[in-house]
Amino acid sequence: MPELPEVEVVRRGMGQRVVGASISDVEVRHPRPVRRHLAGADDFRARLRGTRISDVVRRGKFLWLTLDSGEALLAHLGMSGQLLLVPTGSPPEPHLRVRICLDGGVDLLGRQIRFVDQRMFGGLSVVGLVATADGLPGGLGSAPDPVPPLLPVPVAHIARDVLDPDLDEAALARRLRARRTGLKRALLDQTLVSGLGNIYADEALWRVRLHYARPTDTLTRPALAGLLDATRAVMGAALAEGGTSFDSLYVDVNGRSGYFERALAVYGRAGQPCPRCGTPIRRDAFMNRSAYTCPRCQPRPRRARW
Ligand SMILES: [Zn+2]
Repeated sequence: MPELPEVEVVRRGMGQRVVGASISDVEVRHPRPVRRHLAGADDFRARLRGTRISDVVRRGKFLWLTLDSGEALLAHLGMSGQLLLVPTGSPPEPHLRVRICLDGGVDLLGRQIRFVDQRMFGGLSVVGLVATADGLPGGLGSAPDPVPPLLPVPVAHIARDVLDPDLDEAALARRLRARRTGLKRALLDQTLVSGLGNIYADEALWRVRLHYARPTDTLTRPALAGLLDATRAVMGAALAEGGTSFDSLYVDVNGRSGYFERALAVYGRAGQPCPRCGTPIRRDAFMNRSAYTCPRCQPRPRRARW
């Protein structure tokens, strides 16, 4: 499943090339990926044709292209979605769902944005924009205008992520402590801090030796700062590698797979030795998924919450 670093790789790869380009045509090859565009595929196409892309922005796992029409093309990759930027003449990918033809931009060769998705939990929609609640840029990659800064309506309730320079850490610390829940559950709550999935939460908690069931109201401000630094470090490593690519469904904007999974310390490694102390990694059932910990580096707190 694409996590924040994969989406950030797409943003970086695409942003440099498509800003300034116009959308000349759109082909919807399967209705499901545009199901969140309630007015239907014809309306989706009509709203995109002839618009110009002014920026490529990401907040959490949401990616959007702001359009000069005053709307945005919003993408969520879901479980297996990919956004590729390929030459117009490339043969269609096996699970190609939507094709967006570009005109102009930095790269003068004909290019297409392709949405490829095998399982089709992800999708695209053209949505309206609203002013950001804090008056700061909508996300990473936002153009300096307009003022006030805008973001897509469906993203308005999503908190800033740990890679966003405008994340207010003091406010996050206050809200986390007030939540009176377990630490990992709070980290996965997209209204507190966005883009932290199961993998990065487990890896970051291991780095700072915190158990996932640690009550958030017992977390000190320095401990939280250390935890946020750890999430950035783990994501930075993934970004350098181009993504996690657990099921090889994910490839970056140019179609390359990531190799980060080799560097994981605890996630998916039940029974294997902790890279720090050698104790077998433990897997617990957690929120219909799993939580991986080293029982020695991350002892369960006496007053656990989850
Ligand atoms: Zn250990």
